[in-house]
Amino acid sequence: MIDAYSIPVTKTERSKLNDTPLENIPFGKLFTDHMLVADYINGEWTNVEIKPYQNLSVAPSLAAIHYGQAIFEGIKAYRNAAGEAFIFRPYDNWSRFNISAKRMQMPEVPEEIFIEGMRQLISLDKKWIPDYADHSLYIRPFMFSTDEVIGVKASETYKFMIILSPTGPYYSTPARIYVEETYTRAAPGGIGFVKAAGNYGASMLVTAEARKQGYDQVLWTDSAEHKYAQEIGTMNVFFVTGNTVLTPDLEQGTILNGVTRSSAITIMKEMGYKVEEREVSIEEMIGLYKKGQLQEVFGTGTAATITPIRELKYKDFVMTFNVEEWKAAPEMKRRLTDIREGRAADNHGWLFKV
Ligand SMILES: *Cc1c(COP(=O)(O)O)cnc(C)c1O
Repeated sequence: MIDAYSIPVTKTERSKLNDTPLENIPFGKLFTDHMLVADYINGEWTNVEIKPYQNLSVAPSLAAIHYGQAIFEGIKAYRNAAGEAFIFRPYDNWSRFNISAKRMQMPEVPEEIFIEGMRQLISLDKKWIPDYADHSLYIRPFMFSTDEVIGVKASETYKFMIILSPTGPYYSTPARIYVEETYTRAAPGGIGFVKAAGNYGASMLVTAEARKQGYDQVLWTDSAEHKYAQEIGTMNVFFVTGNTVLTPDLEQGTILNGVTRSSAITIMKEMGYKVEEREVSIEEMIGLYKKGQLQEVFGTGTAATITPIRELKYKDFVMTFNVEEWKAAPEMKRRLTDIREGRAADNHGWLFKV
């Protein structure tokens, strides 16, 4: 067990902050001065430390590179008008991280390292949280296997790390999407509910094919029949019909349990919508659309919060949406952003003070 307050810190000799403007920086390219590292050796976590952001030196036989025991998380921290820093729902990401770890036969990471380590790291690099509206600090915890053995088996050693990346507003322009009927993202019994590196690796070709056809992403469907909606790219998906909001349920383990998804469900219920988590078939959505009863389709995720869908194509049938007239998604996003940035009361205990 690690004493929460004894994480050794080696500070950088020279902060990069002074020569780095934090306004409108592109997503995920710039990193703060420090990072957190911990090693899992002989069945326990050790060597926990915060040190200057730097390269890793790894053996060519590093297990993670070959067999993909690698998982990650994505979280955001914000600074309010008074300059206080808050992390948005980090305990939800911590529990999801350990669910991912379990499925990948990796060790769980304790609260003292994941949460307290994150808090201390952000506290040290707090000045890196941009002060501008809609800017935030993106937090990337991750873990990978580190055995130096070419043999297919669960690694005995692992590295857990947290790196931080200041990020500007991630305006996602309304997207064009088609319903994917060839490729599959996740099947029952697989790792759809896991934030595993391999899930992303498997999606790159599909995204590239979508782009080639002039689309931004695909709407993933079930592996058996390609009839039921799963997710949009790497976002959870919502459909608004009148006063009801539909989103695929988590029962089959094929969908990532998004923290933004959960926040969106809570907020939309507060806005007076009836939220149904259930199977959502494409045919049903087309039926609603033809009757003029499908108003909004959008994706949710930490990076962009929401991405409106302006066009959704299924076989030869194209559904288009006039995003400017939407009510539910923009209002939900506004409410969520106000809570995260400290302009509205945090009635759900979503903010964790750094
Ligand atoms: C991370 C992720 C999401 C969104 O989860 P958030 O916790 O809201 O950021 C949705 N789908 C997939 C596949 C993801 O990897």
